[in-house]
Amino acid sequence: MNGVNYASGTVPPDYRCASCGAHGCKLWRPYQTTMPRLLCVVCAEQDQGDRLDTSSSDQIGWYVPAVPMEEGDGFWGYTSVPAAGVAWWKSLPMALPMPKPLEFKTLYGIDASGDR
Ligand SMILES: [Zn+2]
Repeated sequence: MNGVNYASGTVPPDYRCASCGAHGCKLWRPYQTTMPRLLCVVCAEQDQGDRLDTSSSDQIGWYVPAVPMEEGDGFWGYTSVPAAGVAWWKSLPMALPMPKPLEFKTLYGIDASGDR
């Protein structure tokens, strides 16, 4: 993952939920992995069977905030994220819940209901 610049507030194109494809929102990654699967709040909660409780933690089960490094390819360790990286991540919005299949079709012209 390249191209993140904390000061610009931009989001790398591949900073995307691996499950639903959400982009431009906060993402989480599994704790202690080098090639993580990124998940948005909705998918991470579903995957972990846990609810994000921002009053006590920013973790969801074993998932921790995914903060890409500005230089190089990778993510900061959970306890070593620089302040600018934390600010960048916190500035991202939460993912919205998945649109229902009908809304999805209306929005994207794709029939996601599974019937053909
Ligand atoms: Zn997702």
